[in-house]
Amino acid sequence: MGIRLYRLSSFVYQRSGLSSMIKTRAIVLHRFPYSDSSFIVKALTEECGIVSFIVKGGKKKESPFRGALDPLALSEVVFRQNPNTELQFIKEATLLDWRKNLRNDLLCLSKAQVMTEMILRYAPQGVPLQEEFARLEQAISEFDDGTSDKSRIFAQWLLDTCDMWGYNLDLTTCSRCGRTLDKPAADFFPETGAFVCHACLGVDTPRARTETLNGLWALLNGEKIEHPEFTENALLTYLRHHIGFLKEIHSIKFLNETRKLFDYH
Ligand SMILES: [Zn+2]
Repeated sequence: MGIRLYRLSSFVYQRSGLSSMIKTRAIVLHRFPYSDSSFIVKALTEECGIVSFIVKGGKKKESPFRGALDPLALSEVVFRQNPNTELQFIKEATLLDWRKNLRNDLLCLSKAQVMTEMILRYAPQGVPLQEEFARLEQAISEFDDGTSDKSRIFAQWLLDTCDMWGYNLDLTTCSRCGRTLDKPAADFFPETGAFVCHACLGVDTPRARTETLNGLWALLNGEKIEHPEFTENALLTYLRHHIGFLKEIHSIKFLNETRKLFDYH
């Protein structure tokens, strides 16, 4: 929990009072057209947090950046950081990993899009986000890895994000008696993050579904989650209540539509 990973990979080529050249790895979060020929690209950089780039001529087929600025791509970017403007000019972008497998897996892709949208909307702006970068890179790499257990990735990322953003969720303790749980909780309240053990719940009917309770237990114990959507939704609700999601996360709709297409979620 809360392990901060720092990499010293940026090269500050030049430092002047106004701008400096930065070279850093970046995960593309979002891209949208800006004019007939240009894009705006928002990326989570390893060294400088979220940076918005203007990419002139980026829509042309002969663009030197090719796939390097596609959403979810991992790239190395070079840019001159100008503190006086919100839009930075990108000088070089070299594709490191396009995530070919992830792009062929609609369910993983839709989860990755929720993750990138949440970072874009809720991560602090204008500050380095090295841990966010490390966690997102890990989750996207696992989605892209043909051999990994896909059932835990999004739930683990959500749990880590609770932790990173200061809303630590204690999966191990009954909120009423304070005892450590030795099996899945009898109930869970996603609005508060409170777990209730079997002794404390007594004969009351739990509000949480068995799938949610078993999934959170599996998440805690590093096991495969049988019905991840329940666990994911419980964690999303918990985060939503703590962050106070003012803006709707549009990609959740797409995720829900995608989930309906799959027997195995
Ligand atoms: Zn209890």
